[in-house]
Parts: sequence; structure tokens; C-alpha cells
Amino acid sequence: MRYLILVLGDQLSFTSPALVGFDPLQDTILMIEAPGESTAVWSHKARTALFLSAMRHFANGVAERGWPLDYEQLDSEGPADFGARLQQALQRHRPQALRVVEPGEWRMQQQVEQACAQAGVPLRWLDDTHFICSRADFARWARGRKELRMEFFYREMRRQSGVLMDGDQPVGGQWNFDVDNRSPYPKRSGPGAIPAPAGFAPDAVTREVFALVERHFPDHPGELAQFAWPVTREQALQALEVFIEQRLPQFGKYQDAMWTDTPTGWHSLLSAALNLHLLDPREVVAAAEQAWRRGRVPLESAEGFIRQVIGWREFVRGVYWLDMPAMKEANHYAHVRALPAWFWTGDTRMACMRDSLKQTLALGYAHHIQRLMVTGNFALLAELSPPEVCDWYLAVYVDAIEWVELPNTAGMALHACGPRFTSKPYVASGAYIQRQSNYCQGCRYDPAARTGDDACPFTTLYWNFIDRHQQSLSANPRTALMTKNLQRMSEAERTAIRARAAEMLAGLDML
Ligand SMILES: Cc1cc2nc3c(=O)[nH]c(=O)nc-3n(C[C@H](O)[C@H](O)[C@H](O)COP(=O)(O)OP(=O)(O)OC[C@H]3O[C@@H](n4cnc5c(N)ncnc54)[C@H](O)[C@@H]3O)c2cc1C
Ligand code: SF4
Repeated sequence: MRYLILVLGDQLSFTSPALVGFDPLQDTILMIEAPGESTAVWSHKARTALFLSAMRHFANGVAERGWPLDYEQLDSEGPADFGARLQQALQRHRPQALRVVEPGEWRMQQQVEQACAQAGVPLRWLDDTHFICSRADFARWARGRKELRMEFFYREMRRQSGVLMDGDQPVGGQWNFDVDNRSPYPKRSGPGAIPAPAGFAPDAVTREVFALVERHFPDHPGELAQFAWPVTREQALQALEVFIEQRLPQFGKYQDAMWTDTPTGWHSLLSAALNLHLLDPREVVAAAEQAWRRGRVPLESAEGFIRQVIGWREFVRGVYWLDMPAMKEANHYAHVRALPAWFWTGDTRMACMRDSLKQTLALGYAHHIQRLMVTGNFALLAELSPPEVCDWYLAVYVDAIEWVELPNTAGMALHACGPRFTSKPYVASGAYIQRQSNYCQGCRYDPAARTGDDACPFTTLYWNFIDRHQQSLSANPRTALMTKNLQRMSEAERTAIRARAAEMLAGLDML
């Protein structure tokens, strides 16, 4: 055999560089389902099911092409560990080399390198051309910059790609329409009728995977009943089309809006399809730009969406590979508190957390502002241990792969990497959640109360956080105002906040 070509579960594209020049007479494709990948963190059932179903559909495509394929199923005999299964396959096939596209996790890179070294098989890594910015190009951009900022990277990506550009100027005269992306839903009428995202009834392959997941991981979190994710490229393209036609127009305006029992808002739900490589970011961006150029969607929607894809998505991937493995240990505030048990059940009295957590367990999905400003904000204010929080995020979302989950959780939500790539901690009191949602209406806590039995945990813990980190926050122009507001409070009020916060922190499980 010339090449054994390893296709990982998040590399499901027939345009993958690993398959360029594939010769069925000399090469074989290898795909491995390993139970260890579902237990490395306590993976949500829908997350495991999505990976396995998409892999099996891709394998069917390989079979249709008549290409040789060695597909190791989850329940085949052998070790649970991915690396050990790979090593066995290398020994079985004895190829001249293993070809594989660079993976989405540092841990996976180590496993592949180790397996090849132990089996004595040469390893050929290939650049992941799914991403617009290669790891090397990102490292070049970052060189000499102590602190990395998404906005400057994003402008560079716009210039280089020509997306939403008018010559060398951004269309509409500004790079960023973020200020137009923050409207809440109308408080009286709510979000109204939002067209549903494309959903896909599980076919026979997916149903078989469900049975497998229930058999192997019966005690894992999450449900499969509402699983409707795209598992093939055709479905992913359909999901993209429905989003661009029906949901992108209002995406921009309501990007930061939340509402009870409105789990998806106007968001795209395309992250999982993108991360599995069922969609290419270039085609997603082109579709959004074209919709704007044809006058179908406002610029704040097209730009807001494109910023997430060629800005944040490419940026966090670059930072991940630059800062691993240290990023995994980062803990700027030295927080060590354990994750409350209700993160795994949603059984908390805080209405905003309950809604965000329950939908996460039901769907494996929450939109960005829920992940950042509800669960993430709470985790930071409650001084939860970053590694525990990161493991939770990696476990519960269907789109979770470490290159994107870790920088978002450790870096953005928890500020665990300090100012390395975010300019300030994203903390907010209950007032923010009240403004952006209707959650507080149905809550036993009062978002305006800082002390007393009804005090909103977000509000009390927010002021406690500002109080504790007053010195560093007042030195940062982006957070100085927060400390000015604290200084206006009487010493008695501040003492009462500290006391109530201490009670809450000691009894997080009871909130
Ligand atoms: C604490 C935390 C953890 C996160 N974990 C993940 C994760 O494991 N996997 C993941 O794909 N995203 C993660 N994100 C980013 C973002 O929340 C999700 O990409 C988004 O919610 C997915 O839903 P959507 O497809 O409807 O996104 P939309 O709101 O429709 O956004 C469009 C696309 O932009 C990209 N995008 C948007 N925001 C980001 C971002 N901050 N970083 C990278 N890409 C982005 C996604 O590909 C997304 O599909 C996380 C964010 C936070 C704050
Ligand atoms: S009052 Fe506080 S805990 Fe309750 S929903 Fe509002 S922000 Fe969340």
C-alpha cells in the first residue's frame, strides 16, 4: 500500500487535500470510531450521534465511489482509545506513509504522532485548506503582537479576500456594524414568528447510530429526541439555503437577543456543518454576500454574519494553535470552584440559566449570546474552575471541537487567558440579561437587587467581581466605567454585597 489516508470525524469533505491524487489501486481510506472520543469528556448524546452519523454517511459516499475503505465501527473489538486503534490499523496495513490533514484538536495531533512513531510508519501532515487562513499565515500575522485583537485580523481577512469590499474600502463605509447587532426583541410582542431552521428527520443510518449511542453511553447527558442536524453535504447545503433565504435578513438585528423557549432565534445553526467540513466557509460567506448584493438582506446582517465566519471563526482557530497546549491550563484569575451539579440538569431557580441549560441538554445547541453572556458570564462571576467549565462546553454542544470551544470558553467567556486575545472580561449584571431578554419576568430573583434573598446572582456576583478586581478594571479604559459606578456606592452597600456574594458562592448548588 502507498498511502493509508486517515479521514477524521471532522474532516468530511471530498475536496479534502488528503484525497487529492487518491489512487484506489494503491491507497486506502481509514476512518475510526473510537469510544474513547465520546468519554474524553462526558459527551452529549447528540454530539456523539452527529459525529458518527456524519462519518457513516461520508463512508457511504466513499463506498459509492468504489474506493477502498477500512472503517472501524464503535463496537468493533479492540481498544477504546483512538490512538491505540490507529496503531493497530497501521500495523495491519503497513503503508509507506499515513496521510492526514491537520486535526482540530491538539490532543488528536499527539495521538496520531504517537501511533505513527510506535508503528514505525512515516506521517505526512497536510494543511487544512478548509480554513481560509492557514496556521502559518496566522502565526505570521501574530508575530510581534503581544496582544491579538480579532478586529484587526478581521480587517486583514476582508482586505485579502475582497469580501464586502469596494476596492480597498469596506462597503457601507465601515468595517463593523456591531452596534446594529444588539437589539432585543420587542418586550411586548416578543420575537414573533421566526421561520424555522431546516431540520432533517433521522434516516436509517442515523437511527442505527442512535441505538448504538444509547447502548454504549446510556448515562451520558442530553437527548436525541429532537435531533434534526444535517449529516450530509446535501443536507448542509439545504440548511445554508434556508438560512440565507429566510433567517439571515433579521439575523443581524437580533444577534444578541434572547427569549424564553426561543432556542435558535434568527441564528444560522450552521456551526456543526461547518466544523465537520460539510460546508466550506468560503461558500457560506459568498452566499451571505451575494444575498446582500442582490438587495435581499441588510448590510448589518450580511456583515454581522460574515464577521463571525471569516473573523471570529478563523481568529480563534489561529489563536488556539498558537497558544496550545498552554491555553488549556490558563487561569488568569486563579478560579477553582467546582461546576454546580445543575449544569448537567438545568435544575436551577435562575430562569435565564434554566432556559439556556435545558435547551442545551435537549438540543446540544445554544446560541452565542446564551453561551457567552448567560452560562459563560455566570461561570466567570461564580469563579468556576476554567478546566471544568471548558470540559463542560466541550461535552454539551454538537458543534464542540477543541480548536473553537477552548478559545471561546477560556479566552472569551472566562477571560482565563487574560488580555492575550480579548480586551476585557465579558461580565454583566442581571440588568444586561433583563435588557436583552424576557427571562427575568419569570424568575424568582430580581435583576435590580444586589443584596437580600431576592438578589439576582448575576447582579450580586457582578458587583462582587468589580469590587475584587477594581484595580485592574480601573486601569483598563474599556472597563474603567464599571469601577466608577462601584465607587458611587456606600461602604455599607459594598460590605453587604460582599457578604451576600460570599453566601451565594458557598452555596452555588442551591441557586
Ligand atoms: C463559551 C463559548 C463556547 C463556544 N463553543 C463553541 C464550539 O464549541 N463550537 C463552535 O462552533 N462555536 C462555539 N462558540 C461560538 C458560537 O457561540 C457558536 O459558533 C454559535 O453559537 C453556533 O451557532 P450558529 O451556527 O447558530 O451561529 P451563528 O450565530 O449563526 O453564527 C454564524 C457562524 O459563525 C461562526 N461563529 C460565530 N461566533 C463564533 C465564535 N465566537 N467563534 C467561532 N466561530 C463563531 C460559527 O461557525 C457560526 O455557525 C462558543 C462561544 C462561546 C461564548
Ligand atoms: S433575575 Fe437574574 S437570574 Fe433571574 S433571569 Fe434575570 S438575570 Fe437571570
